[in-house]
Amino acid sequence: MSSIFKSASEIANSLTAGDVTAVEVAQEHLDRIAAVDTDVHAFLHVDTAGALAQAAAIDKRRAAGEKLPALAGVPLALKDVMTQEGIPTTCGSKMLEGWRPPYDSTVVAKLKANGVVILGKTNMDEFAMGSSTENSAYGPTHNPWDLTRIPGGSGGGSAAALASFEAPLAIGTDTGGSIRQPAAVTGTVGVKPTYGAVSRYGLVAFSSSLDQAGPCARNVLDTALLHEAIAGYDPKDSTSINAPVGKMVEAAKKLDVKGMKIGIVKELSGDGYQAGVKARFNEAIEALVSAGAEIVEVSAPNFEYALAAYYLIAPSECSSNLARFDSMRYGIRVGDDGVKSAEEVMRMTRELGFGKEVKRRIILGTYALSSGYYDAYYGSAQKVRTLIKQDFDAAFAKADVLVSPTCPTTAFKIGEKANDPLAMYLNDIATIPVNMAGIGGMSLPCGLAEEDGLPVGFQIMSPAMRDELMYQVGGTLEAALLSKWGKPLLSSAPALGAK
Ligand code: GLN
Repeated sequence: MSSIFKSASEIANSLTAGDVTAVEVAQEHLDRIAAVDTDVHAFLHVDTAGALAQAAAIDKRRAAGEKLPALAGVPLALKDVMTQEGIPTTCGSKMLEGWRPPYDSTVVAKLKANGVVILGKTNMDEFAMGSSTENSAYGPTHNPWDLTRIPGGSGGGSAAALASFEAPLAIGTDTGGSIRQPAAVTGTVGVKPTYGAVSRYGLVAFSSSLDQAGPCARNVLDTALLHEAIAGYDPKDSTSINAPVGKMVEAAKKLDVKGMKIGIVKELSGDGYQAGVKARFNEAIEALVSAGAEIVEVSAPNFEYALAAYYLIAPSECSSNLARFDSMRYGIRVGDDGVKSAEEVMRMTRELGFGKEVKRRIILGTYALSSGYYDAYYGSAQKVRTLIKQDFDAAFAKADVLVSPTCPTTAFKIGEKANDPLAMYLNDIATIPVNMAGIGGMSLPCGLAEEDGLPVGFQIMSPAMRDELMYQVGGTLEAALLSKWGKPLLSSAPALGAK
């Protein structure tokens, strides 16, 4: 069987057993990308030579008898918001076209140290602003379940690469849901670790107090393996948490939730959720009850304000972060004829370099931070953030983890919400509170909605620095659902000839 249909841990086992070489595995994935990515458009850049060279280096070390890290030789797709030395990094924006960063992000440095083979950079909404990948300056990514639909966003490229068997592992980043929502709508698994658990050094900043990188894969165990590979304290990130990385892999393998209290968040599972989403969510809850969990209902009354507060905090921080794109230091430079003023060149560069959604957010954020409005908007949003955190604290006093559907609906059609920012923003209603409180969140598939046959995501939220709890509950739920279905959800994925 080709390695493309295997999980990361299965690939790792065949590599260790000597059944296959890392170069063969990389080549099979590069061939798959060549075969299907014209339809899916998950990748913005495929680093064929680099991937094969990394794989060859792993094979050489293995042949020399070296004991290698767990994921050595396993291929990965990297969201184009992470710097990798010498490799184009655009963040889905025209602004950074042609930019090749001179350094590795900490996540990339850790991937390299773990021998993970980086296949290339994946498509995303421009500067990670969006929920559909339609805001990419390089055209949308298509959902492998139905090519006319969105793969979620902003990390739609990473999720689509997994769902189309172009890579068994991927890196995403999640500011308001960009790992979990794409995972939900593509039938894959995505984890936003506790804020500060994975270094932000070399992650191009959107909203620094919310941004967090995390692991994506097709099953819970693979995300746990990748989580352990990329997490840990980094002095280069001032908000990095200086504490040991939890035992995610061990937790993912426990397959036991007896005696655990699982809290259903009342405010995140009521009106506005598609019928098939609610039905699959309820079945997943039943599966957890059968596995021995105790269900409690918790209320988080301030979650109702989370979306509004997010759309003040995130644009405010983005208006400041994106000020660095000034035509002087990175990326493109427009109109520099030696006569125009620096201000004029800057204006023309920003006018041409940024897309509509990025401009909208810079304007919103600049307004919210301006003198006279700061307290009313940004200040109030920060207060809401504290209230949300208090709601989580109260809920976690009653439950070990909290759960909800990841998104209100399954994947919508490309173009359906592109001109309706508010409708687009509502996708993240259930994911945003997690970022606001800095805690952990996972999405894993819990079935297909009967009305459209598309995947539904189940969200698990764990207290800060207790990310292993998500893996324990997620691993148990995944095993229970798998024994019910008889085969993984993605094996029935449609358009691309999945096995
Ligand atoms: N969809 C949300 C937004 O557009 C979240 C994006 C993200 O997590 N990067 O802001």
